[in-house]
Amino acid sequence: MRQVASPNCDARPRGEAVTLVVIHGISLPPGRFGGDAVTRLFTNALDTAAHPSYASLANLRVSAHFLVHRDGTLVQFVACNARAWHAGVSAWQGRARCNDYSIGIEVEGADTVAYEDVQYERLAALLRALRKRYPLAAAVGHSDVAPGRKTDPGPAFDWAHLARLVPAPLLRRDPHGRLPGSPPAMV
Ligand SMILES: [Zn+2]
Repeated sequence: MRQVASPNCDARPRGEAVTLVVIHGISLPPGRFGGDAVTRLFTNALDTAAHPSYASLANLRVSAHFLVHRDGTLVQFVACNARAWHAGVSAWQGRARCNDYSIGIEVEGADTVAYEDVQYERLAALLRALRKRYPLAAAVGHSDVAPGRKTDPGPAFDWAHLARLVPAPLLRRDPHGRLPGSPPAMV
């Protein structure tokens, strides 16, 4: 695993347990894979003039604990005990500010492009390791904690595939990838 320190982090609230994993999908420019733009974004080194889609990223200070590249390469940006800035305005089961109590994992991808098998395998290995260290209750998508605002990791993310590699209860979903109690998907 590569480690690249991101300055975009701070301390978790005192006594806060890490109970949630938030899975994201990201690619920069959107839909284009490879390159180091995500690493640059998380280290405040992205030239936001380099692509029109980067304009909205100017002065953004964001990070995640981990990034899983398309080839399964894992990069860590923030220590798990620290608070990374990945979820933004968010809530899980009535608890706001998911960054306080979650670990953020970015998976290089796009909402409607199939993720790579090796990415699921790497993600599952990471979840298994994190589970040994933290009292994790669930792993959910960014779209689950910021519905209406965020769509990642998107409909192409195969929750059932991941669930086969990481046994319940961390990934309790129905066959459509929906969490228990979710409203029916829009058709
Ligand atoms: Zn996200």
